[in-house]
Amino acid sequence: MDPFGLKFIFIAALIFVPLERLFAMHPGQRTFRRDWGNDLVFLLLNAVLIRLGLLAIVAATIFAAALIVPASLQTTIGDLPVWAQLPLVIVLSDLGFYWTHRMFHAVPWLWRFHAVHHSIEELDWLAAARVHPLDQIVTKGVALLPVVALGFSEWVIGIYALLYQWQSVFIHANLCIGFRPFRLLVASPEFHHWHHSNDREARDRNFAGQLSFLDALFGTLHMPRERLPQTYGLDRPMQQRYAMQMIYPFVSDSDDQYRPAVLPGLEKPALQTVAAHPPFASERPEPADVADAETVGVLSSRDAAAHR
Ligand SMILES: [Zn+2]
Ligand SMILES: [Zn+2]
Repeated sequence: MDPFGLKFIFIAALIFVPLERLFAMHPGQRTFRRDWGNDLVFLLLNAVLIRLGLLAIVAATIFAAALIVPASLQTTIGDLPVWAQLPLVIVLSDLGFYWTHRMFHAVPWLWRFHAVHHSIEELDWLAAARVHPLDQIVTKGVALLPVVALGFSEWVIGIYALLYQWQSVFIHANLCIGFRPFRLLVASPEFHHWHHSNDREARDRNFAGQLSFLDALFGTLHMPRERLPQTYGLDRPMQQRYAMQMIYPFVSDSDDQYRPAVLPGLEKPALQTVAAHPPFASERPEPADVADAETVGVLSSRDAAAHR
């Protein structure tokens, strides 16, 4: 029994601490960076809470799917070879992850939960742990729901879960790795660090957990060439202690922090919305930055037009 995932923490530290020394995106960042101990508490306590929450969602999904989804369809899918099931599971799950994550940015009362993850100001392998458990239970639960309901095999879902767990640690790590030439296909540290950047041009971008091409597909990709994000976090620092962050969504007014809004049809384009919520740490992007962003499909034409 390893309810706190101590084995995982130990192996991850053994792999990522030396890698971060060798290939750091921010070489000046210390191994025991600010709030490192606090994030270790997140990792230990959230592991139990998130696992319990996901078990409940998976059990409920299996029960509901038995009533709704034809058994013949589940059998056909479950009998596919692993090499055919795995890519389908990754794409389906990441689609669920992408849209749920995007909702957590767009809906103010959901943002209060997700702001906990964005409160971190120095990213490393441990940063993935800084999450509100309810945020993670819902996001991962929605990602798992279709693949459990459709009858994909337990083995394949297990492989997917393992891949997701390690990729999640990897994309938060302080590593200067961009996966070229697959940067527009697979999520990398470069891709996800931009998601945490507090540059206004990067807000509400790069929502995918594993597949950066989903952001390219839905017009939310932001990976300017030859540049890396420099600062992370919210405009106004949040209380960093675990207990305070657990109660934050229930006691705060979401306007305390920057509040992105991106869902098409519901809100204004992200960059315009950001302009309506000062103060910001970063300056308005220069015209050159906008042009740079457009070259890699970062901004929708609507966003770009708003900056001309
Ligand atoms: Zn986010
Ligand atoms: Zn993150």
